Amino acid sequence: KANRKFHPEDSVVTVGKARIGGGSFSVIAGPCSVESEEQICAVAEDVKSSGAALLRGGAFKPRTSPYSFQGMGTPGLDLLMEAREKTGLPIVTEIMDPRMAELFEREVDVVQVGARNMQNFELLKEVGKMSKPILLKRGLSNTYEEWIMSAEYIMAAGNENVILCERGIRTFETFTRNTLDVSAIPAIKQMSHLPVIVDPSHAAGMYWMVEPLAMAAIAAGCDGLIIEVHNDPPHAKCDGQQSLTPKKFDELMKKVEALVPMM
Ligand code: PEP
Ligand code: MN
Repeated sequence: KANRKFHPEDSVVTVGKARIGGGSFSVIAGPCSVESEEQICAVAEDVKSSGAALLRGGAFKPRTSPYSFQGMGTPGLDLLMEAREKTGLPIVTEIMDPRMAELFEREVDVVQVGARNMQNFELLKEVGKMSKPILLKRGLSNTYEEWIMSAEYIMAAGNENVILCERGIRTFETFTRNTLDVSAIPAIKQMSHLPVIVDPSHAAGMYWMVEPLAMAAIAAGCDGLIIEVHNDPPHAKCDGQQSLTPKKFDELMKKVEALVPMM
């Protein structure tokens, strides 16, 4: 179902007024994690005024250490819904547990499957039964073939609204958090009809590298970007070092808009 051979036209995923794929470009922006009502609502207003089409924010976080902030959980989902109410931006947030599918189906607009769960096949089958679009991040060390097969799991279960997200992979380089695999964009587009977006924030791990990587991703033909934005990066509970301030995000969006027609 994900193979370009049997589906030559580009797929377009529609979320509210936003369209991703088939020549339509959208930007998803927001903090790594939802931290408070003030934080998520302020960032939502800011990214909306800069032209973001969707709001991101983690409520359930896949952290390397069990002692790190794990996200606000369901109260975080409530705050995302409040931010959606205030701004009209659809919300994108990560699911980690198949038992949460019903809650996410009710409350969330785009369900993110994180890099660490790209091959959590039971989770893939469960989100495949949902009616909401799935944002499937590439695993830290997964091939294109494996990534497309994970999309196939979701599609085989009935949900054909899948957006693929390149977020950088593990390489021998330690300077950057991950290595953005720009080749993934043309390669996946040749292999599959699904939209491909890029997360330069998790690839870089450093805020100052987000813009050049975003520009490279656009040049390579991606269908959208997902970018971490925080109102107070030095005090962010997660991923502050790679988060843009709303002002830097606004500057980036001006450059993005000069290159791609936004919807
Ligand atoms: C995230 O989007 O905050 C995240 C945890 O991403 P990834 O799964 O790509 O590491
Ligand atoms: Mn993050």
